Amino acid sequence: MPMTILNALRAAATLGVDRLDAQLLLLHALGRPVHERAWLLSHDTDPLPPAAWPSFEALCARRAAGEPAAYLLGAKEFHGLALQVDARVLVPRPDTETLVDWALSLMPAATAPRVLDLGTGSGAIALALQHACPDAKVDAVDASADALEVARANATRLGLPVRFTQADWLAGADTNYDLIVSNPPYIAADDAHLAALKHEPLSALASGPDGLDDIRQIVRQAPAHLADGGWLLLEHGFDQAPAVRALLTERGFANAQSRDDLAGIARCSGAIWRTVK
Ligand code: GLN
Repeated sequence: MPMTILNALRAAATLGVDRLDAQLLLLHALGRPVHERAWLLSHDTDPLPPAAWPSFEALCARRAAGEPAAYLLGAKEFHGLALQVDARVLVPRPDTETLVDWALSLMPAATAPRVLDLGTGSGAIALALQHACPDAKVDAVDASADALEVARANATRLGLPVRFTQADWLAGADTNYDLIVSNPPYIAADDAHLAALKHEPLSALASGPDGLDDIRQIVRQAPAHLADGGWLLLEHGFDQAPAVRALLTERGFANAQSRDDLAGIARCSGAIWRTVK
């Protein structure tokens, strides 16, 4: 009996691949766009082309072993942008759209805001901000040359004029930014949850004994690079909002506050820098 689309999807389930990932991986193995899930449903009795089954089975085995679907597909949608991603960068998460939406609310287009994204990875945040606010002047840095290759390729493909530079957080950065944003690493180095993220770059995930080493450094450095009235917005772990607001306030920022992600978890905190107090 030839392997049909429906049977291939059933086989994926027995391998432990969830339904949505199986559908996306099967479309990928068939060379079809990932938005064509309806096509799969309406062709469920079609036999698979002979070459598609082994490649789909191999993709399912890798997914079942924990590789992110985004790496297997080579793509991830973030804030309406189709980004190319691979194991050189963290997979952009929907949680981070909270940071983007908050940043955009602080970026009136008429003022051509100057924005800096720290640890840009795939370029997700910087590119989403530039796309939604074409008048902004968006810079982005990452310490990883590999990540910057991915980010620059995304910018070129999307035609977005973000300026990317290799740097360790704010070392060598310009001054007078209206907004500095970052989704830095924030997981505690001994957190058991890191095991489930073993395919993604550890340098994008873990940050010292309490997960706050990089956030502390950014909070310390940011004021020298912010304009009067500029904002610093940071993504952080599910239980870090009070600690991050305290770090901001201790450093002399005003109005420290947090925003929830889609799951209702306080996922980002930020505050305003006033030169004249
Ligand atoms: N949100 C990611 C996770 O917990 C971590 C991302 C990060 O460290 N910036 O899976």
